[in-house]
Amino acid sequence: MILVTNDDGVYSPGILILAKRLRELDSVVIVAPDRERSAAGHSMTLHRPLLIEQIKDAIYSVNGTPTDCVNIAVKGLLKELPRLVVSGINKGPNLGDDVTYSGTVAGAIEGLLLGIPSFAISLSAREDFRFAEAAEVALRTAEQVLEEGLPSGTLLNINVPNLPVSDIQGTLVTRLGKRIYHQMTVERVDPRGKKYYWIGGGEPDWEREEGTDLDAVDRKFVSITPLHLDMTDYASFERLKTLETMNYALHAHGNNE
Ligand code: MN
Repeated sequence: MILVTNDDGVYSPGILILAKRLRELDSVVIVAPDRERSAAGHSMTLHRPLLIEQIKDAIYSVNGTPTDCVNIAVKGLLKELPRLVVSGINKGPNLGDDVTYSGTVAGAIEGLLLGIPSFAISLSAREDFRFAEAAEVALRTAEQVLEEGLPSGTLLNINVPNLPVSDIQGTLVTRLGKRIYHQMTVERVDPRGKKYYWIGGGEPDWEREEGTDLDAVDRKFVSITPLHLDMTDYASFERLKTLETMNYALHAHGNNE
C-alpha cells in the first residue's frame, strides 16, 4: 500500500491524479489536509484534537497539516505500514531554501521519520498545471524506489517542469539552490488606518548555479534532490572550536562573589 498526502488539500487535482497513477503499482490511500496548508512546513498540531473524515473509499481528510496526516495515517488509521509515502503533486515548485517552508516536502519528511521510503513531488508552474506529466514522473520514480529502496535517512524532493513529456530533457540529480531574498513583504493600510502586511509579494529570484534544482528545472529537466534531515554543518566544526573554550563554571563562580 502507498500513502499519498499533499499540502494543497484533499480536493486538489494534483493529489487525485497522483493517486490514480500510483494505483498501477499498488493500492493507494489518500490522507490529506481538509484545506490548503501550503507553507505549513513540518508543523504538527498538538493543542487541539485532529478529526479524520472519510470522503470516499481510501480517501480521508484531516483538519491538520501534511505532517499530521502522515503521522495519524501511519500511527493510527492504517492497518499496515505503507511501502511508500508520496507527497504532492504540489501546485508550484519547492526548490532550494523554500523546502524548509514546504508542507509538501514535510509530508515526505514525516514519512522518512516514520521509517518509510518517501518522496515529494512538485510542479514548477503558477497556472495551467500539467499534472498528468508530473504524475508520470511520480509513477516512474515510485516504481524505482519500490524496487531499489532509498539510501537510509534520505528522502527525494522532485520538481517537474510544466512541459509536455516530449519537451522534458531528462532527469538530473541536484543539490538545493539558493534564493535571493528581496521585496518579499507588502505593507498596506486597512480601512481603520492600521498597518498590515502580506508576506510573499512577487516571484522570488534565485542564484543561477549549475547543479542546483532551480537550474535543472530552468533547463527543462526533472530535478531530483536527495535530502536528509541531519542539518549539522560538519564543515564548521573546526572554525567553531573556540566556542568550546568558554568556561561556564568560572563565570558562575565570579557572579557568586
Ligand atoms: Mn502547496
